[in-house]
Amino acid sequence: PLFEKVNICKLLQDVTLLMEGQLHSKNAAVTVILPVLGCTTVGDICQLKQVFINLLKNAVEAVPYEGQVIVAISRQQGMVAITIEDNGNGIPREIVEKLGTPFFTTKECGTGLGLSVCYSIVQNHGGRIIVDSQVGKGTVFTVLLPVTGDES
Ligand code: ADP
Ligand code: MG
Repeated sequence: PLFEKVNICKLLQDVTLLMEGQLHSKNAAVTVILPVLGCTTVGDICQLKQVFINLLKNAVEAVPYEGQVIVAISRQQGMVAITIEDNGNGIPREIVEKLGTPFFTTKECGTGLGLSVCYSIVQNHGGRIIVDSQVGKGTVFTVLLPVTGDES
């Protein structure tokens, strides 16, 4: 993998554009909240894209028709925090524990590979993923990534 400076704001805009068709098919409202300051990390652009494609795909699959997805970038714990929030069904506690296990899926045609790929990519970038979900209300996935030296 080729590690280089990655502008996360631009990357997220690219990813939401890529996912437009799927978002449109659910008539879902996507809000992207970008920070005033640029947010860069060091990493593999293609792998990082894959992380946000997978998380956004899960969010769209979770929301009802005309559901809501909010993507936001901020700083948390001295890292770049990207949150993907949906107002879908939420994830029961006993299932949260299984997230990231390869081939674990609750979907009829799911592969159960999306999150395991996300977890290993983010770990290889020195970051981590936090899940906060409430059944019946929705889910927030937070990806924390190190900020590059010249911006931290
Ligand atoms: P797949 O999407 O193929 O099922 P993933 O690894 O992407 O595989 O996700 C694993 C499981 O995690 C899903 O089947 C689903 O039960 C749960 N999950 C992931 N993201 C969400 C979400 N945003 N809302 C509700 N459940 C989710
Ligand atoms: Mg998935």
